[in-house]
Amino acid sequence: MCYTHIIMRTYIVFDLEWNQSPDGKQNTNEDLPFEIIEIGAVKMNERLEFIDEYHRLVLPQIYTRLHYRISQVTHLNIQELRRVGVPFPEAAGELMEWCGTDPVFCTWGSMDLTELQRNMSFYELDLPFPFPLCYLDIQKLYALQMGSRESPSLDSAAQSLGLLEDRPFHRAQDDAYYTGKVMQAIDFVTWSPYFSVDYYRLPRNKEEEIRLTFPTYMKYVSRVYPSGEEALADKDVTDMICFRCRRMLKKKIRWFPVHSRQYLCLSVCPEHGPVRGKIRIRKQGENGVYIVKTLKCVDEETADRVEAQSREYQARVIQWRKMKKRSKKSS
Ligand SMILES: [Zn+2]
Repeated sequence: MCYTHIIMRTYIVFDLEWNQSPDGKQNTNEDLPFEIIEIGAVKMNERLEFIDEYHRLVLPQIYTRLHYRISQVTHLNIQELRRVGVPFPEAAGELMEWCGTDPVFCTWGSMDLTELQRNMSFYELDLPFPFPLCYLDIQKLYALQMGSRESPSLDSAAQSLGLLEDRPFHRAQDDAYYTGKVMQAIDFVTWSPYFSVDYYRLPRNKEEEIRLTFPTYMKYVSRVYPSGEEALADKDVTDMICFRCRRMLKKKIRWFPVHSRQYLCLSVCPEHGPVRGKIRIRKQGENGVYIVKTLKCVDEETADRVEAQSREYQARVIQWRKMKKRSKKSS
């Protein structure tokens, strides 16, 4: 998906409210921890003008009382949902039809598309989405523009952009609307090429593995492996490539863990300088993991930092070996 591809399309900015077990973990349905109770969306054209709105309350089937936090934040109540809510399969079908063909989905944060699909799968509905499912995470794009490493809240973004209107937050329709307003306010040409990939459906095999190029980095999403060790034994996972010239690179600093689920690596492209590799091991269900690897051309300062982190790691390993030796001797 490239920018010219995006710009000719319709944008569906949507937001969901969901409920969860009101009595915590013990009564959670593992197949549906978050049950969608409200769908709100706005449709925008390629000039980012609002052209339509969609709103539906959903009749809960799994959790028949609202978690107190949900009623507190959304001000929804179960009587209203029972009175005007429609069953989820009906609402989902209606939403998909309203979206039209091949829209660009936009959300605040990375959870809504995943939960939409999880709810659809729970009711055994077809998932009418392309693979990989690329979308625009407006929260991420806004943070990129602000040069922020934090994930800003929609309220605070709307406030600092001067977008506040006489409508509240935390109801699906309003949040979709404000997300659309933030989209209009950011430098869309610069930041929209940094789209996101939804991880609900993962590559089922090698052929389906995802490789995407962004203006400043490359991203690889692997298939599912039984364990992190098995994933890290796969050359496709650990290969270092310069994302500018596609050269296969030798490793200057081999992959080392920064913590249990994240690894770093450093190579140098003779033409484009230091390339930092970052691997994140992400859990998939009860007994599987998949890998998200990013390869980025970095400055000397960042490269030095990776080297320093690697030295710290080596020092810890030496310390740990000494301790082990000592405890062996004394036992
Ligand atoms: Zn290169």
